[in-house]
Amino acid sequence: MRITDVRAVQPVAENSPPDWRTSMGQILVAVDTDVGLTGYGVGGGGLAGVHVACTVLRDVLLGEDPEPIGRLWQAMYDTTLPFGQKGIAIMAISGADLALWDLRGKAAGQPIARLLGGQTGQPIPTYITVWDELEAAIADGFSAFKLHVEHRSDGGTVDSVVAAVSAARDLIGPERPLMIDAWMRWDVETTLSVATQVEPYKLEWIEEPLPADDFDGYEVLARRSPVPIAGGEHEFTFAGFRRLIEQRLHQTLQPDVCWCGGFSELVRIYEFAQRAGLRVCPHRGAEVWGLHAVAALDRQPLAESGRPWMNWVGGQPPIINGTITLGDEPGFGVEIDEAALKTL
Ligand SMILES: [Mg+2]
Repeated sequence: MRITDVRAVQPVAENSPPDWRTSMGQILVAVDTDVGLTGYGVGGGGLAGVHVACTVLRDVLLGEDPEPIGRLWQAMYDTTLPFGQKGIAIMAISGADLALWDLRGKAAGQPIARLLGGQTGQPIPTYITVWDELEAAIADGFSAFKLHVEHRSDGGTVDSVVAAVSAARDLIGPERPLMIDAWMRWDVETTLSVATQVEPYKLEWIEEPLPADDFDGYEVLARRSPVPIAGGEHEFTFAGFRRLIEQRLHQTLQPDVCWCGGFSELVRIYEFAQRAGLRVCPHRGAEVWGLHAVAALDRQPLAESGRPWMNWVGGQPPIINGTITLGDEPGFGVEIDEAALKTL
């Protein structure tokens, strides 16, 4: 099998919220072959990511056998090294890598989870990420919840965050898992103040309290926060996660498979983190791209709800009563109606 084309577009998602990187948003990467199979992956970086995929990544992949994914990943990484390493170039590589994995699964007639020795057909617990709609999420049958709290802290009000956590704990009861996400908006002092005050409410984690590159700050939090710290959705490649894991800067690692370098890197991060005794809980892990790794590799699976406005990725299994179950379709099992796509 040989690669005959690499294509990428940024589909328009009608209901995408403005803060979901609309202008640098999610891209679709397609890898075509001479046997009629096309692999699909989702990456990031918007039209800049599309440009990277359709120029340098296409040059690397065109005419190649798609199977030695590790070698092709390294070639894509090496080619983007002068302007890559993190960010948009790696987000584009993520889409291409996922498309190569999709091809591998389709060529083998197997779902990706099974290629890793895992099972499909088993219900996987999920959690839902909410802003203000907690009661609706409870009504939908979810049994684990994460509150985005960064918008509450605009006035520096630690008190409002603590009050939100207290109210949420009252609503969901004492047993169901609860987390909060600060989306890089706090500093060390604010985080420690929140952590100390929310400790009685038994949070699973505080997510991304500091900017992703504040390693010194995370080192302080790792030592002093009474609540575990999670992060990594804005970190890139195994090399980036290796530092987080070796220095134990986060207790829960949250790679986003569509941004961090693709499925190849997610697998390496899973294996290294779990060997170090740390938890992996991929960012939007209930989207099908990460879910195959969750199903196959995770010792304590908890898949984050996906982004419902990305409805141009068809064939994804639904979350029903708080669990999600992978089907048996080969590859990632997605259906892309290319003719129906509206693109930027
Ligand atoms: Mg987050």
